[in-house]
Amino acid sequence: MEPLTQVTAPPREVAPHSDDPLALSLNENPFAPLPAVHTAIVEATAAANRYPEFLPERLRRLIARHIGVLDEQVIVAAGATGVVMQVLHTVTSPGDRIVLATPTFDGYPIFAQMARLAPVVVPLDQQGRQDLTTMAEAAADARVVALCRPHNPTGTVEPAQQVQRFLNRVPSDVVVVIDEAYIEFVHPEYRLDCRALVRRHPNVVVVRTFSKAYGLAGMRTGYGICSPSSARALWAMQLPFGSTRTSLAAVAASYAAEEQLQERIRIITTERAYLRTRLRELGVSSTDSHANFVYLPPAGKPWREAFEGTGLQVRSYRDGGVRITVGGRPSTTAVLAAIGKSVAARA
Ligand code: PMP
Repeated sequence: MEPLTQVTAPPREVAPHSDDPLALSLNENPFAPLPAVHTAIVEATAAANRYPEFLPERLRRLIARHIGVLDEQVIVAAGATGVVMQVLHTVTSPGDRIVLATPTFDGYPIFAQMARLAPVVVPLDQQGRQDLTTMAEAAADARVVALCRPHNPTGTVEPAQQVQRFLNRVPSDVVVVIDEAYIEFVHPEYRLDCRALVRRHPNVVVVRTFSKAYGLAGMRTGYGICSPSSARALWAMQLPFGSTRTSLAAVAASYAAEEQLQERIRIITTERAYLRTRLRELGVSSTDSHANFVYLPPAGKPWREAFEGTGLQVRSYRDGGVRITVGGRPSTTAVLAAIGKSVAARA
């Protein structure tokens, strides 16, 4: 297998400002933690001299109750990143294949390298959608296939029927990671019924995170939902003392403040719609994003150039496309100014 170049994280300050309208490259939530969540985190640090639970039973229970599944169907880890790595460490051996769309979330090629897997990459189609037919075919010779819904970087959501057809075609001994890192930004009518899904498909692990809609990227908390039999194997790989007291406190306080968080999600999705509309008015097309970012496919000169010298941090792609996190109105205004100027210069 070709060694991949380790992708380096973009430079960030040690203590970044919670409110930086120009930081639009990592799909973070623009809102600082709610006061109640912040207080819960700070209070939890008072017992930082003590270990947390040996295994994160309480956090697991909290999440399971919230989702409506059995405790025995949930695993928790350091972000969706930790969950995916836990899956790979549990079910793969070095040299196994993992099927990925390309481009996809930057983490996946790194995870594949860390688990010494051979990535099989399947290009997105013209609309920025994952090619589920080809991915299912490739899965026949693989150990794991990762499907992001919404996809990163395009934000697109494969229709439920197509996902079902895909799952019916993937061999039952191949593990399917359905990455729902951005699911809370998706309108309920487009969501999958994850409980029914893992009941029907014991080879599926649905992966979620508190990093995005819950605005807790710095807390590193994610979870996986799957059948009890799969969860048993995955739970056996829980890192001892691996989940912090502050994570537990932050999740409990976030669930208690669900309504306020839903309001923040509504603000972000409304801003996404506004940004897409204004881009369209500038003659700039973006993919049908259901997440907290928009993606501009390549159009002539690389979009990267539009942001040079503006201070805006966005994620640009080799083919000239760019992914921009949806922030507050000051972020949107800065993005539209940069793109407007670039469009005018291109005309
Ligand atoms: N999956 C996808 C699709 C993502 O975009 C991200 C973060 N950008 C992650 C997983 C990882 O999220 P985290 O580890 O912060 O939970």
